[in-house]
Amino acid sequence: MFNAVLCRYHEIAIKGNNRREFERQLVGNMRFMFKKQEAFCKVHHIRGRIWVEPAEPGRDFTGPELQKVCDVLSRVFGLESYSPAKLVKPDMETIMQAVREVAPPIFAPYLEKGEKAVFRIRARRSNKEFPLRSKEIEIELAGLVETLFGGENLKIDLDHAPITIGCEVREEFAAVFAGSYPAPGGLPVGSSGKVLVLLSGGIDSPAAAYEMMKRGCQVDFLAFHSPPYTPPESSDKVRRLAEQLNRYQYPGKLYFCNLAPLQKEIRDLCEERDRTVLYRRAMFRIAEKVAHKAKSGALVTGEAVGQVASQTLKNMATIGSAVDMLILRPLCGYDKNECIRVAQKIGTYPISIIPAPDSCTVFAPASPATSVPIHVAEREEAKIAGYTDWIEKLAAETLTSVE
Ligand code: ATP
Ligand code: MG
Repeated sequence: MFNAVLCRYHEIAIKGNNRREFERQLVGNMRFMFKKQEAFCKVHHIRGRIWVEPAEPGRDFTGPELQKVCDVLSRVFGLESYSPAKLVKPDMETIMQAVREVAPPIFAPYLEKGEKAVFRIRARRSNKEFPLRSKEIEIELAGLVETLFGGENLKIDLDHAPITIGCEVREEFAAVFAGSYPAPGGLPVGSSGKVLVLLSGGIDSPAAAYEMMKRGCQVDFLAFHSPPYTPPESSDKVRRLAEQLNRYQYPGKLYFCNLAPLQKEIRDLCEERDRTVLYRRAMFRIAEKVAHKAKSGALVTGEAVGQVASQTLKNMATIGSAVDMLILRPLCGYDKNECIRVAQKIGTYPISIIPAPDSCTVFAPASPATSVPIHVAEREEAKIAGYTDWIEKLAAETLTSVE
């Protein structure tokens, strides 16, 4: 019964010159995400309105097609909500015919139970030539609904109705729809540039990647592993996480860095309790070099203040001071349950909880220091001959590891 899906985005944040760029990126992203399903649907865009239709016009979506379209739209950043709709000629008789089609399955569950169906009509008219005003359209359609289902079975509630029949009248078409579904909001991926996410196999860093995509960042991934001290399963997990995250964007690259050789130097030459901070400073330094080459504007981590020993304010400052590049930590104020909720929502949680060792835990000290001052970290690093060469070498190897 639906021959289109209407898409909405937040117009307030994107007034002025930004608007065209925003729409261009959004429509481009949607077309990319629908590419695999091109055979049956098409993304249209005119002045402030985006909608999806079957590729050959004049037919309705099948149930499974509609489900696929909605599944894709629920992963498009920049969209606020979407509504399966009946698109028809913008004249009142045809609009009423569309309501006769759209309304029965929506009202049936209430009427079958003998309950009053509480509803409202919401009309919007952007076509000022249309003979009826919005309010008049609403009155006309409410009258039609009463004729269809009997006034005694219905109640109008303009504020809290569980049933909303929407009607939008434009110059090109009128759309009739029943209800809308939430999309992820935020900004279209790519509209804010590119970032490099340090992706571990844990719960947090995939959630951090999601939060940055939501702010319009195209995401590449960098994972540190330590073969032979970490097993291949650790890297497989990260691959699966990146794959899951790439469902939300034009697929980002996944880089791998084998940190083990430098970790051995740190193990052999530096204070045991400072190891974790030293690993992480090395990770950031390598990441910064990779990000420069890959034209990323920032590093992103899943760190949250106070979560573990390496995430005390002091250690975060010491780790961050290893690089000049902007570091974004979108989860820094989240507690673990909030991180878990994001991970569950985006489907990374079941992958993250598969047990597998992380690079950070290789030769991990029994009791890691919670407060390593910068000068101590620098003193320890100075014990490693050719430290900067190590960083250069590992970054260069990483750049050729791209998947
Ligand atoms: P997560 O659930 O993301 O693993 P965590 O609470 O276990 O987070 P840490 O292991 O201290 O925290 O890591 C903090 C952040 O450092 C991670 O969120 C991630 O961005 C980065 N990180 C840690 N280990 C790695 C790794 N092996 N490869 C890439 N990045 C890593
Ligand atoms: Mg971790």
